[in-house]
Amino acid sequence: MKRPTILVLGAGYGGLTTVVNLQKFVNVNEAEIILVNKNDYHYETTWLHEVGAGTISPDKARYPISTVINQNVTFVKANVESIDVNLKKVETSSGEFTYDYLVIGLGFEGETFGIPGLKDHALSLTNINTARQVREHIEYQFASWTLDDIKDDSKLTIIVGGAGFTGIEFLGELGNRIPELCREFDIPQEKVRLLCVEAAPTVLPGFDSELVDYAKAQLTKKGVEFSIGTPIVEATEEGVKIKKGDEDVEFIKAGTVVWAAGVRGNALVESSGIESHRARIAVRGDMRSPDFEDVFVAGDCAFLLNEETGRPYPPTAQIAMQQGVIIAKNIKHLMYGEPTEQFVYDDKGAVCSLGDNDAIGTAFGRKFTGKRASALKKVVDDRALYLVGGVGLTVKKGKFKFL
Ligand code: FAD
Repeated sequence: MKRPTILVLGAGYGGLTTVVNLQKFVNVNEAEIILVNKNDYHYETTWLHEVGAGTISPDKARYPISTVINQNVTFVKANVESIDVNLKKVETSSGEFTYDYLVIGLGFEGETFGIPGLKDHALSLTNINTARQVREHIEYQFASWTLDDIKDDSKLTIIVGGAGFTGIEFLGELGNRIPELCREFDIPQEKVRLLCVEAAPTVLPGFDSELVDYAKAQLTKKGVEFSIGTPIVEATEEGVKIKKGDEDVEFIKAGTVVWAAGVRGNALVESSGIESHRARIAVRGDMRSPDFEDVFVAGDCAFLLNEETGRPYPPTAQIAMQQGVIIAKNIKHLMYGEPTEQFVYDDKGAVCSLGDNDAIGTAFGRKFTGKRASALKKVVDDRALYLVGGVGLTVKKGKFKFL
């Protein structure tokens, strides 16, 4: 009998967790496991704010996929170009693949909500390359300011669109990096402006209000200004226009604009033949797509409702990894004609970094701030490494500066 082919698209948190669990549950005689990913490395998406601010190197935030997969898995470095679930075909830059079971784990893309100019003029923290571009762009602006005879201080203005998790974590890192950059480029720090622009009336929606107040106060001390309830309505080569009242639109000139205010699933999902909303597929309880028995969806391409609150689960690494485990188990169940298991989210809390040695978070039913929250964040980061690559990877890539 032909071994079934399990095709996993994307080696992010969801896809790679699926694969490392499949290689535990399924041996090479039982199934062929193929993993397709754009790069031959996995990057820690949850560390991209550090790469973007320049507080860690891109290499610190990534590792070769070959270090965590075994001989049961065939890795293909290729760009997925299209998915057709009706024909059971996936086109990639390395040829066409077919499958018996498909796992879509292609992650997220920035959602610009149709705001004019954002796609062309704002940078983003979407992958290792865009994060590296953010770091190098900021350094370039600082370096070129020093060369100008007539100084334009707006080159030193950094606008971050969005006061959600990504925006706040990035601002926290910038709070640490800017003093270093100012020393490096001989720039008086008061010339640098760090501005967070948010359309919603609050910072970090969903977080405890006491923790949000702490985060805002700490970032304000680091020089961050907040403009809340003021949507960006246009981005240009020179900066952004923000809406301050019904009629009032202000233009803010800036050398750097980083958009961190919304995500959607990977656009490839929209032409796959499966119904989606903002490229996210409303999955069944066992993580399969609604109409296709052989297609699973992991991570930010999946949309899952929290039955208790009636609200969707947020797109997070924590959920993506838990989904990867259940998907691997359910593929094995299907291979042996057994009933599948339902995904039950085990919420371990959330920690938002505010830069070096500072953070806010909730875990074990308690609130944490400052160094203790920051230590917790490092434990969370190290745990993600451990779950995929064990002790070896954790020792190599982990964060151990707890005080
Ligand atoms: P990803 O981990 O993004 O992986 C997608 C993979 O697919 C990548 O390897 C990519 O290269 C690959 N890929 C994409 N397109 C193609 C293609 N066409 N062909 C081949 N390969 C492709 N979540 C938390 O739980 N905690 C946090 O503290 C946290 N902090 C965050 C901080 C930042 C700065 C950001 C940006 C996100 C943060 N998140 C956090 C959210 C979290 O990172 C995402 O929810 C998570 O990465 C989703 O996992 P995924 O497997 O769906 O996608």
